[in-house]
Order: sequence, then C-alpha cells, then structure tokens
Amino acid sequence: MATLAQKLDIPGDFSMAERLYRPSPRRGWEGRLRDLEAQIRVDVEMLRYPVDPLPYNPREGMLEVAVIGAGQTGKAVAFGLERFGLHSVKVFDRNPAGLQGPWRNYARNHLLRTRKSETGGLHWGFPNLHFQRWCDLKFGEDYFRSIKKIPRLVWAEYLDWFGDVLKLPIEYNVNVSDIVWRPDLECFELETSKGITRAQFVVLCTGIESAGLQRFPQLVRENLPSQAYSHTMGDIPIDRLADRDVVVIGGGASAFDTANAALEAGARSVDLLIRRESLPPVHRVCLASRWHGYHRHYIELSDEMKWAYSLADLDLGVPPPRDTYYEAIRDNRFDIYGSAGIESIRYENGKIIGRYGGAEMRHDFMICGTGSRNSLADQRELQSVLPSVRLWKDGYIPNGHATHHELENSPYLGSALQFTPLHDRDHFVSRIYYLCSGVAHLSGFRCNLSGLQYAAERVCHDISRTLFIENEEEIKAAFDRHSGWE
Ligand SMILES: Cc1cc2nc3c(=O)[nH]c(=O)nc-3n(C[C@H](O)[C@H](O)[C@H](O)COP(=O)(O)OP(=O)(O)OC[C@H]3O[C@@H](n4cnc5c(N)ncnc54)[C@H](O)[C@@H]3O)c2cc1C
Repeated sequence: MATLAQKLDIPGDFSMAERLYRPSPRRGWEGRLRDLEAQIRVDVEMLRYPVDPLPYNPREGMLEVAVIGAGQTGKAVAFGLERFGLHSVKVFDRNPAGLQGPWRNYARNHLLRTRKSETGGLHWGFPNLHFQRWCDLKFGEDYFRSIKKIPRLVWAEYLDWFGDVLKLPIEYNVNVSDIVWRPDLECFELETSKGITRAQFVVLCTGIESAGLQRFPQLVRENLPSQAYSHTMGDIPIDRLADRDVVVIGGGASAFDTANAALEAGARSVDLLIRRESLPPVHRVCLASRWHGYHRHYIELSDEMKWAYSLADLDLGVPPPRDTYYEAIRDNRFDIYGSAGIESIRYENGKIIGRYGGAEMRHDFMICGTGSRNSLADQRELQSVLPSVRLWKDGYIPNGHATHHELENSPYLGSALQFTPLHDRDHFVSRIYYLCSGVAHLSGFRCNLSGLQYAAERVCHDISRTLFIENEEEIKAAFDRHSGWE
C-alpha cells in the first residue's frame, strides 16, 4: 500500500472559491425570462414545418409513446417527439417534480463533471432553449463566460425550467412497475401506480442506476454492521461524520465527491483507498467526446470494435474530474492509498479495523464508492419483457479470450437504441428503446450529456419512421383523397 496524494500537485489555477460560487439572479431576471419564454413560443411555431401530423387516426385509448423517466433524457426525448409531430406522448416519473434523477438527491458534486459546452442538445436546435441563453438572462452574460463547468443545482434548475416552458406532458409521482406486450391489441400495457396505460412504443429513460444494485465489497457486507457503512448512492449521515475517521473505498468521481463532503462536514480524517496501484491518468471517453462524430456514430461500429472500446475503458478505469481531486488532496486531513484492496475487516468497540494492502487501519465510518452491479435482470419494470430481449451473450462474445460478465449480459441494442428480439416471435421488443446506463454502455449510450443529443434523435426518428410505415395504407388513402388547389 502506498500514499498517492501529493499536496504539491495542486496547480495555480485551482480555486475553491470558484467551485463553490453560486450566482444570484440579476435584477429584472423574471421579466427577461418571461420575454424569452414568449420568444421560444414564436420560435417553435416558426420552425414548425411541416405543421400537420401524419393523416392517420391515432388509436383510441392509447398513447403513441410512453416515456419512462423525466430527467434530462426523458425531457429531451419528449420534446423531440413533439418536433417529429407525434400525436400523443406522456412522460411518467415516480418522483415528485424537481426531484428527478440524482441532482437534488444523492449527487454531491459541486459542479457537473462535463464541460459547460455539453448540454445534451436539449434545445433541439433552438438557441433560445439553450442552457447558455437561459443562464445569460438569469445570471448575466459575464457569469456563463466566467465558468468552465455548470454548478449541479443550476443545471437542475434549468431542467425544471425547460420542462415548464415547453409544457412537456409529464406526470410526476407515477411509478411504472411492469411493461407487458398485448399481442391481441398490438400495444404495451404499462402497469403504473395510477393504473394501466396503453402505449404503442416505450422509451426507457430511467437513469444511470436503474439497472444497478449498489455494489458493496463482500467482506464489508459480511463483517460490518449496517450503521458503520454506506454507499455513495445511499443515505450517508454526512452531518454525523464530524470528528470521525472516515474511510472511502474506491477512486471514482462519486468516491471523491463524498470524501469532499465528509471533509466539509468536519471529519477528523478521510482515507481513500483504491485497489489499483494509482489513479487512471486520463478519462479517455471524456477526451473522445470532443471529437465530432464520436458519439454520433459510435453505435454504428462493429460488435468487435464496441467490445474493444468497452474493455479498454474498463481496463483503464475512470479518474475523478481534475478539480474534484484537487479539492480533496489540498486538505491535510485527506490521504489516498493505492494497492489498498480490502484483505480483512472487523468491527470492534465502534471501530472498523481493516487490513488493506498489508497495512492495518482504524476508522469510524466507511463509504463505499464501489459503483453498482448493473444487470437488466434487476430492473423491475422489465421483468415481463426480459425473456424476449436479446443480450450480447446471445449473439456475440468477443473472439477468444477477453470478455466481461456484466457486458455479456447487457442488452444488444439496435442502431436506434431499441431492444432487439431474442427470437422472431419477440419482434415487439424492438418497440422499446433503452436510454439508460450501466447496461447500455456496450451498445453505445452512456447516459450522460455528451451522447444524449445523438441518441434522442435516433429514437425519435425510428418511432416516426415505424409509424409512417405501419400506417402506410391509411396515409396513402389520405393522399389519394387529397384534391383541389391550395
Ligand atoms: C453524481 C452524478 C453526477 C453526474 N454528473 C454528470 C455530469 O457532470 N455530466 C454528465 O454528462 N453526466 C453526469 N452524470 C450522468 C448522467 O448525466 C446523470 O445520471 C443524469 O441524471 C442522467 O439523466 P437521465 O434523465 O438519463 O436519468 P435520471 O436523471 O436519473 O432520471 C431518471 C428518472 O427516471 C425515473 N424512474 C426510474 N424508474 C422509473 C419507473 N420505473 N417509473 C417511473 N419513473 C422512473 C426516476 O425517478 C428519475 O427521475 C452524473 C451522474 C451522477 C450519478
């Protein structure tokens, strides 16, 4: 086991004040946003070509598309479907308005991890819907120019505004617990906490952890009482960490965010332990996100190449954002140790006594930043359709040796991020689009802002295309009936 943090590493441009700065709305912002909202209504109408939806009768008592999840992904897709002229779309979220996704829940990052230029394409080409325009009018133009990354809660506020200004058809506090295909009706029945809803297509936008169970090292589960440890995605009694010795297991972004939160709460010491010798030097996907075409076309890569990228990514690991790392190591109460896997652990007189990489350490509380065990089989609402869904292991295993259990069991998505059928008779699953991560990773969607705009476009395009083809007789009849001068 070796100490890794070098306090001298901190560069001159690191500023905690900048990380913690939250802008105040500039005087007159309410009026400016009202004007912006009026302008957005004009813009959306101006670019509404074609105006009319396709001339077929929507099926009665049934949505065309049910979107599950009203986070940034669900909202982007819902607006996209409107732009594609869909008749009836609804978005369901089990949480109350404002509490979708991690942002006001378990996330502890001060700032988004991605750069401010990455805003997921939620604007669908309308500059007035862009984060920057909203931000300029609310906080002043100098603010957006001054930042490198968007504060997490400012982003959450923008997402609320985005849904409101577009009057997206969202129903909050509605949990979807099952999705069943009704061959007799040719539609899905969604079992929700408010009853049954029927839909022709389903877009799952249920978030990064929807197919994941919090992963804990087995030794921790077996040897520590539940009050002695928690997960970065769980409830952590941060306020009770003052004057305590805290150990964080794992070296990803959330592990560092939580270490920083513990330091801020007044922990006596925070030791962060990683199994690897050292932190990964770069986040390659983050760098590749800057290349035009990488996220846009990734999904078209061969199976072999997708595996090669995914395995390389897993091999290399993902470091925390640079400034999150500096925030931790600048504090004398913080230490980071490499080659520090858990060898044994016990709990005695309120202390966690662990042997990590050959050395014994004592702590009061443990935080596991050990990610999640992603498995489609754990995603409750998919239980009925899952037996019909083709997984990677059903069709392709990388040639020869290198493989990965979690990736093998992830869904083999089509080029519009739709499920693909295990057997011909299961064709209906290709009407379900899967924009969630952990498990969509291998097929090409990482559930972050960098790839969202391309994924949302593919989904909307595919649904619109399928409806056109499925209703071709009715549409052709309408075409034939069309007469007279205009
Ligand atoms: C701590 C943290 C920081 C991150 N930082 C960044 C970053 O800086 N940049 C970046 O690009 N990405 C980041 N990500 C990744 C990603 O952008 C976020 O996870 C983001 O919230 C994903 O948006 P989403 O809409 O896909 O899912 P979410 O925001 O998670 O929304 C999913 C919604 O689905 C709802 N839902 C789930 N299941 C059901 C169901 N069965 N019925 C009804 N509703 C359901 C949930 O209530 C939730 O509101 C971060 C992730 C985390 C966890």
